[in-house]
Amino acid sequence: MKLFISADIEGISGVATIQQLVTNSEYQRFRKLMTSEVNAAIRGAFKGGASEVVVADGHGNMSNIIIEDLDNRARLVSGNNRVMAQLEGLDDTYDGIIFIGHHGRESDSDAVISHTLAGVCVKEMKINNQVVGETEMNAMVAGKFSVPPIFISGDDMYVSEVKETLPNVRSVVSKYARNRLAAELIHPEEVRKEIEQKVETAVKDLEQYEPLVIKEPITFEINFKGPQQAQMTTTIPTVQMITPTRIRFTCDDIVTAYKQMWGCVIIAMAATNGILGSVNS
Ligand SMILES: [Zn+2]
Repeated sequence: MKLFISADIEGISGVATIQQLVTNSEYQRFRKLMTSEVNAAIRGAFKGGASEVVVADGHGNMSNIIIEDLDNRARLVSGNNRVMAQLEGLDDTYDGIIFIGHHGRESDSDAVISHTLAGVCVKEMKINNQVVGETEMNAMVAGKFSVPPIFISGDDMYVSEVKETLPNVRSVVSKYARNRLAAELIHPEEVRKEIEQKVETAVKDLEQYEPLVIKEPITFEINFKGPQQAQMTTTIPTVQMITPTRIRFTCDDIVTAYKQMWGCVIIAMAATNGILGSVNS
């Protein structure tokens, strides 16, 4: 039995502010906490019967997890030049996907450090008219490979948000959101114990979970924070502008749509302060 773990950092127990996640001595503490929380999920997965576990580091530069501290039974996808972003390496050989340390989508909610892929440019994303965050989007892509989502962990608001789309997924609340930059924290050791137990149970009950299969073709809509960001994504031929900040494109399948969405986000990030400001030419 082969399992994929998509790991992010904002939803890890102990994390409450963005300042803890930028490169400084504080960040070194939090990447250790991230690695330990991922280890709890790996232990649970192997106890539950997994024979192979691959972890994809999915935050920022996607190189946060400390490989020498990772449970040595797992392999790690690390590094940020990835066509499939947080899902690099996922295919139909996997039996389930687990989300550790994920966060709420960009919105007006109080979810801790909420955003959708890139807080600097994305205001809202919709797939076939449904507003999605990173977990829902990733679960839809996993559905194309017939891989069911079985477990999520993050703050209480993130967990309720995702359960609207994935009501049967097992979950652990890692902290209680107070506002976007404040949380009531639970001790990491307690969170790790619960993650290990619940991942073990989820893996044992794997046959209960269904992949999230959505209707194709896929229409993606992205509302960007600035018109300079939206406009530059129309350099991709199938991207249409609907309003000065909102774009839309349609793809035959969700995997192609996910890659195109990621391309649009990369372009929009580069265009935030003007393309020539961020490219050497
Ligand atoms: Zn992140």
